[in-house]
Amino acid sequence: MTQFTLHTSKLFDPKIKKVRKNVSITVDSSTGLIVNVFERECDSSTFEVGLKPGDIDLRGKYVLPGLVDAHTHVFLHSYDEAGALQQKRDESIVERVVRGINHCRLALLAGYTTYRDLGSEGMQEFDANLRDSIARGLAAGPRLFVATKIIASTGSFECRTENTSGGHCLPSSADAVDGPEACRQAVRRRIAAGADIIKFFADYRRRIMRSPPAQQHPYIPSVLHPPQEPNPDYMVFSQEEMDMIVSEAALARCPVVAHCCTLEGSLAAIKAGVTSIEHGYFATDEMFQRMIEKNVIFVPTLAVAEKLHAKRFDQILAQVKRAHELGVRIACGGDTGTYPHGDNCRELELMIQAGIPVADVLESCTVGGWEACGGDLCGRRFGWLEEGIQADIIALEKDPEVYSNALREVNFVMKDARVWKMDGKPFGMY
Ligand SMILES: [Zn+2]
Repeated sequence: MTQFTLHTSKLFDPKIKKVRKNVSITVDSSTGLIVNVFERECDSSTFEVGLKPGDIDLRGKYVLPGLVDAHTHVFLHSYDEAGALQQKRDESIVERVVRGINHCRLALLAGYTTYRDLGSEGMQEFDANLRDSIARGLAAGPRLFVATKIIASTGSFECRTENTSGGHCLPSSADAVDGPEACRQAVRRRIAAGADIIKFFADYRRRIMRSPPAQQHPYIPSVLHPPQEPNPDYMVFSQEEMDMIVSEAALARCPVVAHCCTLEGSLAAIKAGVTSIEHGYFATDEMFQRMIEKNVIFVPTLAVAEKLHAKRFDQILAQVKRAHELGVRIACGGDTGTYPHGDNCRELELMIQAGIPVADVLESCTVGGWEACGGDLCGRRFGWLEEGIQADIIALEKDPEVYSNALREVNFVMKDARVWKMDGKPFGMY
């Protein structure tokens, strides 16, 4: 018998952004899909009679679709433990793979059934290999959609030390290219290497030698008298290079995401027609209007901003609230990996702190996440509960509308109709 039914009393439906009462969901473990969603006649004492062997009783819990983290780095661990440079330079490939596997397990247990993983950070195309290993049932983790190496121009992204320009002695994180034709080739190379998503850097802290921060330069923690803006972001690509990346990716029906920390970078990426803008820490109403006109998704990555942009954090929170007010499509992704995998829900907590209603935040972290993966272009449907959708279902102990720590108490996790967490404990994990 491959079909069984989950019974709920409180089910968050992201399509209507409301809780539905007394809904049951039949799933099929042979296909990993939802077979049927139906409202029970009543929830009286006769309930036990209708319960079939293998059914799961989630009544009393707050049930919702599996969560989607739209901005992760599966091979990174918290910058509080080691900076990006140290991780790339000092940790072996094997250690980083083992960490990646552990991160995936933690994410799944935290209720995250999909990761949009935006850059392997010195780990070549191993993110694609990890995706496939999970898909083949060899490891427990979210469904991964990966970017492999990010695309940037020469010397603009790699970590560097005082004795290396452009990080030549470190594993490369970027597919570094210059000029539209090379950008076209880089997109083709990424897709051939297994990328589900193309990620490029519109801008970055390229002129880092002005005042090395600890993260990039372990030998010099700081200069004595740093300037007001020690590490400004500058453009990495020209408009025509960005246009080429987006149009080339469109041939392969591949979504494109742009790292944008400046307004200039964001506007150029929006003009090029990217799927999503990551970070967007310097936003204006005009920028948000253009995003709405071109259906560009905003992934505010508040959880990393909380650490790296602490001085401007209140402003960044206010911008996200403004984006929501104006009706910008928001997906929920924290740049997870720069802070611990398993702590993914920090991003939702900060969106709620910014003043976005809980129901809208949950919608951004489910349906919004699916759209950020390319929607139907990603080849699957997940993030809501209907017949034919992936059977990704989680249950919280408490109602997140009422309890601020509810997202941290995940009782139950199912992905593709397989249970990974039951009664708050790992289930059938290897
Ligand atoms: Zn990132």
